[in-house]
Amino acid sequence: MRVLLVEDDALLGDGIRAGLKLADYAVDWVRNGESARHALADHDYDACVLDLGLPKKDGLAVLKDLRGRGSAIPVLILTARDTAADKIAGLDAGADDYLTKPFDLGELQARLRALLRRAAGAAAPTLQHGGVVLDPAGKRVTLDGAPVALSAREYALLHDLLTHKSQIRTRAQLEESLYAWGEEKESNTVEVYIHHLRKKLGADFIDTVRGFGYRLGEAAERGR
Ligand code: CA
Repeated sequence: MRVLLVEDDALLGDGIRAGLKLADYAVDWVRNGESARHALADHDYDACVLDLGLPKKDGLAVLKDLRGRGSAIPVLILTARDTAADKIAGLDAGADDYLTKPFDLGELQARLRALLRRAAGAAAPTLQHGGVVLDPAGKRVTLDGAPVALSAREYALLHDLLTHKSQIRTRAQLEESLYAWGEEKESNTVEVYIHHLRKKLGADFIDTVRGFGYRLGEAAERGR
């Protein structure tokens, strides 16, 4: 899961980024509205955490611009303005949820999980395909009820595939979901981790769609 964090306060931004990285999100952090607009136009994010009071371009303007382009990505706004009018303006401009500063990092993570879940079309707190169940809150994966140990990258890749169920994910999209800016990419990452996941979850759990990419295996679901 790749998240864009837009926050001009250095201390707060640093804390949020560290917290989200611990939760295995790939986090890109920008500090003004203009950079946010560019990042959102150029990259495929799973969610955006957006401060409203920003230099260069206000968070509300960034949000209106984003929705104006037809983007449906989940947006959680952060605001120090605790008046009801600001929250209403944010929600009406297309935000999915909001938090008023100061807030608890655990609550931010839980709200983000809820947004990602709804974006995936699932109201249930776990993601499931075939015999595999992923619990984003506990970061646990089970196969037919038995725990499966996954590395952080394997988990991130599986989370991405389960979130985009029945869609074909290209290699580039999967790679984007694994790395933030400036992180050194290992070669053939996607292929390597797909291979690991198949070994751990079953060869038919992930299908290769030649010339396009990967998607969750139809046989794995039918086998239930
Ligand atoms: Ca601010």
